[in-house]
Amino acid sequence: MARRTAFNLAGKSAPAGQATQIALPVSDLSAGMQAQLEARVYHGAKDGPVIFVSAAIHGDEIIGTEIIRRVMKKLNPRRMAGTVIFVPVVNMYGFISHSRYLPDRRDLNRSFPGSERGSLASQLANIFYTEIVTKCELGIDIHSAAIHRYNLPQIRIASGNAKLKKLAIEFGAPAVIEAPLRDGSLREIAKSDGVDMLLLEAGEGLRFDELSVLTGVNGILRVMRQLGMITAKRLGKIPAPPAQTTKTAWLRASRGGVCRLQAVSGDAVKNGQTLAIISDIFGDDEEIITASADGIIIGHATLPIVNQGDAILHIAEVRIFANVEERMDAINDAMMGNEMLDEDELI
Ligand SMILES: [Zn+2]
Repeated sequence: MARRTAFNLAGKSAPAGQATQIALPVSDLSAGMQAQLEARVYHGAKDGPVIFVSAAIHGDEIIGTEIIRRVMKKLNPRRMAGTVIFVPVVNMYGFISHSRYLPDRRDLNRSFPGSERGSLASQLANIFYTEIVTKCELGIDIHSAAIHRYNLPQIRIASGNAKLKKLAIEFGAPAVIEAPLRDGSLREIAKSDGVDMLLLEAGEGLRFDELSVLTGVNGILRVMRQLGMITAKRLGKIPAPPAQTTKTAWLRASRGGVCRLQAVSGDAVKNGQTLAIISDIFGDDEEIITASADGIIIGHATLPIVNQGDAILHIAEVRIFANVEERMDAINDAMMGNEMLDEDELI
């Protein structure tokens, strides 16, 4: 059998059946060091789809860096079909300073497609976009909540794409949210170039948590299996269909003070149910925050000190409320008890 042609990334060659690390120069840092976009290409021995998996576009949303580490450990490019480009840290500037932004104070996820002659954020967006994103048919981009916030693992997709929705459900996260795309976001620009994107939101800024990591690892492997890139026989089916929604709402603090949450991410809640109690520092003048719809909590503030107007709970409306709680439990149990996730086992 003829050997599969090498994959070319930014003028460098990644041979078939191997993992190859490639650094793309971005710019000189102010103190003289080189900033490089580091990618590792798993170029399978057999033909198949080309996809990318990226993390830390927001430099403090580091959960995807750990998810990518664990996924890479499980893959053997000699047995794989197709190609995966892994980018564990896209915004290396924010990553080293534990910040969402770049030194030019721009948000990388509002800077796509970027330009060679633009700001630092614009240059980085341009390199990532032209050298990696546009070479792929599908991308999985991993984010977390900001610091002092937690997101229930959830997949966000553009609405109206049946193929993408199927992959989103197969990912197996507790919730799938179809929502409009933000201007200048990676997903919006990628869509205009025909690149499908799954966005995983999971966990808290600057933290790792096992439910988020395992959801991410299992989900990426399941999507790869669905695309015919790996067989992954030991990887189970999704334990229950995710909650699906097109409508989410933030509940905000009605006063400043000390906030006691009565529900957290993953909880099923009924319209009118008490979700948080906010009082002053003596415990007086309590105000009650109630659920605005039947749904599940998909995000919450982990910092109990709030100013008036702070977002404290993110609720996703679900159309069919019956059994939501049992389904969420089934997904959590399966994720945490998944015996296939011995770290070093190849699949
Ligand atoms: Zn983000």
